[in-house]
Amino acid sequence: MSTSWRDQFVGIEHEVPTLSGARPYINFDNAASTPPLRVVRDTVNAFVEWYASVHRGQGFKSRLSTEAYEDARAIVGDFVGADPVLDEVIFVKHTTEAVNKLARRLVLPEDSVVLVSAMEHHANLLPWRARAQVAYIELTSEGRLDLDDLERKLRAFAPRVALVALTGASNVTGVINPIHTAARLAHEYGTRIFVDAAQLAPHRAISLGAHDDPEHLDFLAFSAHKLFAPYGSGVLIGPRAAFVNGVPDLVGGGTVEIVTRDDVVWTGGPDRDEAGSPNVVGAVALAAACQAVQRLGMTAIEQHERALTAQLLRCLNSIDNVEIYGATDPDSLDDRLGVIAFNLRGVHDGLVAAALAWEWGAGVRHGCFCAHPYVLDLLRVSPEQARSVRQAIMRGDRRAVPGAVRVSFAPYNTPAEVDHVLSGLVAIADGQFEARYVQHTATGEFAPTGWEPDFGPYFSLTPRAGVPA
Ligand code: PMP
Repeated sequence: MSTSWRDQFVGIEHEVPTLSGARPYINFDNAASTPPLRVVRDTVNAFVEWYASVHRGQGFKSRLSTEAYEDARAIVGDFVGADPVLDEVIFVKHTTEAVNKLARRLVLPEDSVVLVSAMEHHANLLPWRARAQVAYIELTSEGRLDLDDLERKLRAFAPRVALVALTGASNVTGVINPIHTAARLAHEYGTRIFVDAAQLAPHRAISLGAHDDPEHLDFLAFSAHKLFAPYGSGVLIGPRAAFVNGVPDLVGGGTVEIVTRDDVVWTGGPDRDEAGSPNVVGAVALAAACQAVQRLGMTAIEQHERALTAQLLRCLNSIDNVEIYGATDPDSLDDRLGVIAFNLRGVHDGLVAAALAWEWGAGVRHGCFCAHPYVLDLLRVSPEQARSVRQAIMRGDRRAVPGAVRVSFAPYNTPAEVDHVLSGLVAIADGQFEARYVQHTATGEFAPTGWEPDFGPYFSLTPRAGVPA
């Protein structure tokens, strides 16, 4: 790898405080959010000099900004092989908004069924539960999508299945789903597929495929902040025909042709689905990120993250008392991302995350990763245990909420970082801590006693005496 890759991301060499002094931060929480690529930040900085209102402004800057916004739309569509004529590319805030929009914009008759997998993030679950009957596609004993069960459910619920809504890759175990095979099955049974590509898009090349290809992906969404462009944008892509009719889910400026005192004529796409002033800066950032990722090369990104995943799995497998959720084989990484969830038996996941942060300078995620049903299955939490945790949460006590620790990679991570975090995990598994940690009842989080974080010297919006603003 590529020292040069490290140079291409912003802020990754920054030192952070630990209990034993400052050390370079290790960001192993890329499945949650990623730092910006340098070129994305530079493009944004260059663009904001020229930023002005889009679409309706006649001034030079407005027309320039409008062109940049529409160019961004074309670039983002092209990134996943959208058809420039048949597909609509709608800018949204993030994947969550994209799924909510789709759930409200699709025509879903009363008795509609949406098939989701048993590994979905809440973003691709709750919007469907609000609008239709949801049926779960089960997983195989190896934790993969059970395509036989998908077919069984398609057959059982046809013709009521309005959509198969499937994640491209799990944000918990990193498992990659056979989205094109699932698309073929969905189409065979006369329905369509939506792919939540929040995790997949930053790490694997995606091609929607031609509209007449039976394996074509109908709808797709992803978020810019997971794709090295944290400027508040995301995208929903789908057949233009699906968005031409109906009332937009959010109404107001930009969505109309004409409004009289008692009538409204909605405009065509994509404006119909982008109410209010759009996040032009975010769209430009996302487009710059798509271009940059293509320049870095998805194959090179995949190979690099694969090597880190193999290294981590190999060593985790050798630590006593580690339970890894999902696939554990370091030599079989074709169908997974560099997202690894695990527990050190007997050590609370929150304590592992806190000790890694405070003592080893590493940022990882812990908890249920907004995929509660999946994580409860993986952790084999019984319905009785789930009920008792629920009661404790209602009492304001989150100490016993089940969870796991998650490491997730990006192209700028290094084998040395993996080694460092593994040393931390070995020490933690061995009961070696530099401080005494207490668990906060209301949040369930751990913190070392006697230590308060002080962000002021690093960044603050409220300048304080003695610290330069
Ligand atoms: N789907 C998956 C698989 C995710 O990992 C996430 C983010 N963790 C989301 C959807 C939601 O993304 P966002 O928060 O950007 O809306």
